[in-house]
Amino acid sequence: MGGRKGQGGSFECGLGRQAAWAGLVFAVLLLVSAVAHAGDKSLSAAGAGASLRNRLGDESADLWQDPPEPFELLTILGTNDLHGAVDPHLPDWAGAVRAIREGQKKRLGARSSVLLVDAGDQFQGTLLSNFNEGKLVFDAYSAIGYDAVVPGNHDYDFGPEGWLYDKTGQGSSDPNPRGVIEKLARLAAFPLLSANTYLRESLHEATGGPVVVTQKGCLPVQADPAAQGEKVAQAATAVAWDQAIRPAFLQPYVIRRVGSARVALIGLDNPDTGTMTTIENVSDLCFRDMLETYREIRSELEGQADVFVAVMHHGSPQSEAFAEALLQDGPDRLHAIFSGHTHRIEKKKIAELIPVVQSGANGEAFSRVDFVFDPRTRKVDHSKTRMLAGGKVKFDQCAESVRPFCHIKEGQAHFEGWKLESDSKLQSQVALARDELKPVGSRVLGVAENLLTRDRTRENPLANVLTDALKETSGADIAFLNMGGLRADIPAGDVTYEAFFRVLPFNNRAVVMEHLDLERLIRLLRASIATCGASGALMQSGLRVRFERECQGQTVASSRLVSVQTVQGERLYDAEQGILGPPDRRLRVATLDFLAAGGSGYSDFIGVPVTEDLGILRERLVEQFLAHPARWQAATDGRWRWLPTGGSKKLSGPSGAPN
Ligand SMILES: [Zn+2]
Repeated sequence: MGGRKGQGGSFECGLGRQAAWAGLVFAVLLLVSAVAHAGDKSLSAAGAGASLRNRLGDESADLWQDPPEPFELLTILGTNDLHGAVDPHLPDWAGAVRAIREGQKKRLGARSSVLLVDAGDQFQGTLLSNFNEGKLVFDAYSAIGYDAVVPGNHDYDFGPEGWLYDKTGQGSSDPNPRGVIEKLARLAAFPLLSANTYLRESLHEATGGPVVVTQKGCLPVQADPAAQGEKVAQAATAVAWDQAIRPAFLQPYVIRRVGSARVALIGLDNPDTGTMTTIENVSDLCFRDMLETYREIRSELEGQADVFVAVMHHGSPQSEAFAEALLQDGPDRLHAIFSGHTHRIEKKKIAELIPVVQSGANGEAFSRVDFVFDPRTRKVDHSKTRMLAGGKVKFDQCAESVRPFCHIKEGQAHFEGWKLESDSKLQSQVALARDELKPVGSRVLGVAENLLTRDRTRENPLANVLTDALKETSGADIAFLNMGGLRADIPAGDVTYEAFFRVLPFNNRAVVMEHLDLERLIRLLRASIATCGASGALMQSGLRVRFERECQGQTVASSRLVSVQTVQGERLYDAEQGILGPPDRRLRVATLDFLAAGGSGYSDFIGVPVTEDLGILRERLVEQFLAHPARWQAATDGRWRWLPTGGSKKLSGPSGAPN
């Protein structure tokens, strides 16, 4: 094996611009090595017509090579952030997994094993997944044969049972704020993993006394953790982690015996989960530092496993820093990371040893890591580890990302020499679920005359349509929505409930605040103009806002509110004169409960009394549209006007207004 360098073991499938170059280099390497090893006994003995390349002939010369006997091939396939994109991705993906499994088994028999992991956020995004509260997704994952799944922050969004109820006490009869995820975990054929998720009240000091901890990091604090800001006083005490308890629906790791190898899959959730889901559903949990947790588990598992894989709901740079830190601990502390949450294509081999992979979002791609395992030494040959991210499943062509194990025969794509076919059983399950939601999903709410698009920082047609509708249904002076909450554009044509659901997939409620004063209003508007895309602006109906802003990429160099008036023409603010109008002027504002609680950093809403709950925003608007079908046009009207910088700067001094 040691003499087979350059045979593709270290080849990493290229993406985008790199792909063609990498493919060329690889083909050349293969050619060179094929010549160099023409008389290599170990190769010919091991290959003996077994390798995919040999079976397929010269045209497939860039395919990955199989390890010779007695080496074993351990393949780990990974997905992340599906966000409910069941249709058509899951039946297709099921077919891809089957092809890789069957194709490798046919060539290598018991020397091939395939494991399957998911790094979080399987839900939230489509009606098809939310209508049955994740059951369709988890049933499909069970059928596909996942070995381990990590919950992302969005796994907690469902809250109690009842698809329109995300928290307890809002009409759901289920008193359990984790009713759905616990039920899904019970029904799943795979374990739900998170080693760093703990029940806060189970944490104690070594001396036995209870300890109060922060939600992020599970750090001991002096102050009341319910207090805002969770100020962490220097830990005067240490948590006795050996007595700490995780929620019963989670387990920290699972060890899979595949071939001769024992593979530990260790789950890690995002330490920020507490603020990235419905807060009430996780308030009794804390999320410990990923590295500290992993180190503890890894020590515990010494001698019990040969290969260690972290599956984490966090991405670069945290995932890479994690691998780098473990590298310092010594050899074989960690063999690979499957990451998620950031929706990026991540593909990096840390110090040429530890692959870190993530594959976008919404079921569009997958990751793969292959280890060559020596059953005699029980070790991975790191020089032969190969990986890819962003792998695509296509039935009539081989995407560049999967070329090392894909070829076309009679017009059809094959993975590992096995014909790719979408899973027909899963397809019919999806069709059945579609039928169930048809009466709800196919309702037509109106017609979009053209595509209604979004923009995180500028006035945009979709935000105008939605804030106008909220203003109308609430009768408020101003309606505010955050751009981060609008998750899809509205395509031209009939707008169905299903399409509209993609725009507002979260069950946030619309609320009215009766008495927003002008000082708060101006602070909120200043916060809203001070983004160049890193965060989403607060869009509105009811005002005419003019501002200046300078962006350097996504970073705000400067921003300045120039003027604010109501649509009726009442002047509320001017950069020269400051706040205008009587000091007791109050405005009636409609927005989301999420924003009213200070979400997305709009903390100036906190403390303004909520006087009315209009129900789930999406459902409230749907009622309105069903009663009065809408005709939408992609229009802007200058309500959020970005002026060239400097035009009026001199009027208010050099630094402008602080944000
Ligand atoms: Zn996430």
